[in-house]
Amino acid sequence: MSDQRSVLLIYTGGTIGMLADPRTGELRPMDMAHLEDQVPELARMGVRLEAFSFEVPMDSSDIGPDHQVRIASIIGEHYDRFDGFVVLHGSDTMAFTASALSFLLEGLSKPVILTGSQLPVGVIRTDARENLVTAIEIAAACDQEGRAMVPEVAIYFEYTLLRGNRTVKVDAQRFEAFRSPNWPALAEAGVRIRYNKAAILEQSNVALKVHSKMDDRLAVIRLYPGIRPDWLRHALAMPDLRAAIITTFGSGNGPSGGDFLKALREARGRGVELLNVTQCIGGRVEQGRYTTSVAFRDMGVVPCADMTLEAAVSKAMFLMARSTGPDWTRDMGSILAGEFTMA
Ligand code: ASP
Repeated sequence: MSDQRSVLLIYTGGTIGMLADPRTGELRPMDMAHLEDQVPELARMGVRLEAFSFEVPMDSSDIGPDHQVRIASIIGEHYDRFDGFVVLHGSDTMAFTASALSFLLEGLSKPVILTGSQLPVGVIRTDARENLVTAIEIAAACDQEGRAMVPEVAIYFEYTLLRGNRTVKVDAQRFEAFRSPNWPALAEAGVRIRYNKAAILEQSNVALKVHSKMDDRLAVIRLYPGIRPDWLRHALAMPDLRAAIITTFGSGNGPSGGDFLKALREARGRGVELLNVTQCIGGRVEQGRYTTSVAFRDMGVVPCADMTLEAAVSKAMFLMARSTGPDWTRDMGSILAGEFTMA
């Protein structure tokens, strides 16, 4: 049997796979069969590559839970035939898809590396080639025993590998588009790729289970000084709403005015679960640290520790799909795929 490593490339869309129309300059998705013409290095990597492409490549702004489930199921269907997976995806919502995949692919023991680029692959100064080549190298990398170096869902961008469900997109123009504020990088690519073993998840010893449902009956409400309680009440009155993530100030704080809290209590009374995610890029929610978060704690708002909004949205959708009652909120406090740090 050949010991050549194998990687499946899954192209969902995004700038990375686009070519500029020579006449108009408009960016259009390119045929994945021509990827090697654009990145001839692929043929010299010594990795067996196969590609799978969405029939209609998508801008990642159009990617939703159904597409995330589809990517997970493509990985599931090809899981035994490949050593690793590279998902080419627009960068705009990449952190959401990476988070969702980390929950949908329970027991994952192979690398799933998402990457994309800020400039299309055919452009001279493109970041696509380096991102793609190194993502493939990481997806194929194994230790001396043949175990994957990165048995988890990660994002590779601009010389850095980050845990997918810890990542946020922080820049719309710079090549360094992502950060992982509350967890160290999993690897840095310089002359060699340096893996930060202490930060990488342990190999799973259970079989892969691919989940196929997400429940989108969720809202995200960002607090701001001056938020009107009646607006909040309307937002929370959506008929089939099961949960709302409130993005709060600092360590999980919000206005302490009676009408504001009443609107939240009314929603709780109708069985809407409330989750608390901080608006800060780094740090964590600590309900009860300030008076302005005591009421949240007392009405049973679920604190989301140092989870990113992307991870909290994906985790809530994933957990809600698995239960019809309110018990799923308990699992928000269990670490499923390294998505938060225990206090
Ligand atoms: N708008 C694009 C997308 O997210 C940007 C990118 O590809 O990075 O699909």
